[in-house]
Amino acid sequence: MKKEYSMIINGQKVAGGGSPFSVINPATATELSQCPAASLAQLDEAVNAAEEAFKQWQHVSHQDRQKMLHSIADKIEEHAAELAEIVTQEQGKPLGLAQMEVGGAVAWTRYTADLEIPVDVIEDSPNKRIELHRKPLGVVGSILPWNWPLMIAVWHIMPALRSGNTVVVKPSSMTPFNTIRLVELINEVVPAGVINIVTGEGGLGRAMSGHEKIRKIVFTGSTPTGQNIMRNAAGNLKRLTLELGGNDAGIVLPGADVDAIASGIFQTAFLNMGQTCAALKRLYVHDSLYESLSDKLIAIAQQQQVGNGMDEGVSFGPVQNKDQYDLVNELIADAKRQGAAVHSGAAIPEGSGYFISPTIVTNVSDGVRIVDEEQFGPVLPIIRYSHIDEAIQKANASENGLGGSVWGSDLEQAQLVASQLECGTAWINGHAEVLPHAPFGGCKMSGFGVEFGLEGLLEYTVPQLLNINR
Ligand code: NAD
Repeated sequence: MKKEYSMIINGQKVAGGGSPFSVINPATATELSQCPAASLAQLDEAVNAAEEAFKQWQHVSHQDRQKMLHSIADKIEEHAAELAEIVTQEQGKPLGLAQMEVGGAVAWTRYTADLEIPVDVIEDSPNKRIELHRKPLGVVGSILPWNWPLMIAVWHIMPALRSGNTVVVKPSSMTPFNTIRLVELINEVVPAGVINIVTGEGGLGRAMSGHEKIRKIVFTGSTPTGQNIMRNAAGNLKRLTLELGGNDAGIVLPGADVDAIASGIFQTAFLNMGQTCAALKRLYVHDSLYESLSDKLIAIAQQQQVGNGMDEGVSFGPVQNKDQYDLVNELIADAKRQGAAVHSGAAIPEGSGYFISPTIVTNVSDGVRIVDEEQFGPVLPIIRYSHIDEAIQKANASENGLGGSVWGSDLEQAQLVASQLECGTAWINGHAEVLPHAPFGGCKMSGFGVEFGLEGLLEYTVPQLLNINR
């Protein structure tokens, strides 16, 4: 029997006021279950509940909020197996990776719980004391994507709650069930109305970004949607954190140890079937290593086991949805038409799932769509360069600026190159590594604002200066 899910508004499970929609299991292309759809009146109810709850929640002591976040982490841990299964069934990733996602959700919750919100003393003189305090904003709206649905929900929700805000969350309509379950668990700990979940498609997100009682939107998703949210948010000058698309470049320097770096490059390019905002998406390799590194990456792609993420031994799942499947296949076909060599990795299972083999594309250059566009799938184009300035120029030619990386044995030279990349994080001999204590965000069309660490937490607060004349 298919599982039934409800939204949660003001601590109560509620059915949707709109027509329910299907959530598809991408490994089988069949319906997993029906999801309720919120009406706009229900969005208002959720925002009103959050606004009411904020009156008390903002005054709960830091210590109590810290304890509650740890209790939430305990609950996520207790339900780890269930949450991971839901993630695999609706998102598609292999179960082991979904278990890592749940582990990340726990780690981020605990780290955020323990952060202290500072009071800065700006002046302390005989006649005057000026203190900078940080106050919560009010109702925060969280709008989520489908690629790391549980972890990104935690990235949005925990700092909002820790700093004294209340939340209305809207998961992607492709992957809503894990977040519904997460919000149920959080509701076992926090008072009614502190966190509410509404489910639906883009129209609901649009209504949230224009809602006059929502004080901030934290959004992770595509750049065009981020632009729409920014336009819509002007009415009440909402604060925004926008974590948007990426098309990260990696540069392999001459003299790099191909055997040492190949596996790291593969893992970070194909993480979550390439559906990771800060995955390595364009690899610029020096002439001298082009063949040897390409051959190694093709070999690793062939060793993967592609299949349903619930099956044992599977290392590579389907892409998450039909649109994504069509887009990636179209970009691969376009690259072939442009004369690129397309090397498919391991065989894909028969059936109707959205499977694409991990694919390496060689003999390709900038100006081809698979290099220039965010393909957000299991493909890595490898581009040859002969002079480092040319590689840096091409890496920076993208309108995106999320992450970038340099791979090489000479760390000093690697650092010199990394510092010239236009991106929020530049990794050396790594990529796509995010950590709870390291602020993460993009520049250019990849968005603004950061998540994680104290800097990320403070984005959920507004400064208030206390100016005391003694
Ligand atoms: P998307 O922009 O299509 O959808 C994201 C969310 O926005 C969904 O919940 C959707 O319902 C909602 N939405 C759609 N239209 C809206 C509107 N007009 N107003 C408000 N909300 C609206 O993105 P996606 O396809 O779910 O996710 C993939 C994208 O997310 C990729 O571009 C990826 O790079 C990006 N991403 C970025 C980061 C980061 O940290 N920078 C992390 C993960 C994903």
